[in-house]
Amino acid sequence: MEQTQVGAHCPHCGGAVVKATDNKTGEAVAACEQCGVRFGRWADLEDRAKRFIIDDARKQVLKVIKRGGRGILK
Ligand SMILES: [Zn+2]
Repeated sequence: MEQTQVGAHCPHCGGAVVKATDNKTGEAVAACEQCGVRFGRWADLEDRAKRFIIDDARKQVLKVIKRGGRGILK
């Protein structure tokens, strides 16, 4: 079974709940609420998620362009 990891699922317990916890440096850390495992900096996780969304949006735009630009260009 193939799984796409976007950073929202815990690789340890499969939990879908990711919470941001403040560490002592004032930097939010992403952690699993179920088992408490840490994934890394919250900012990194957000970056990854954003890139994924941008990639997806780019694919949608390319699809429209291939159809002749209808829907984007007037
Ligand atoms: Zn977990």
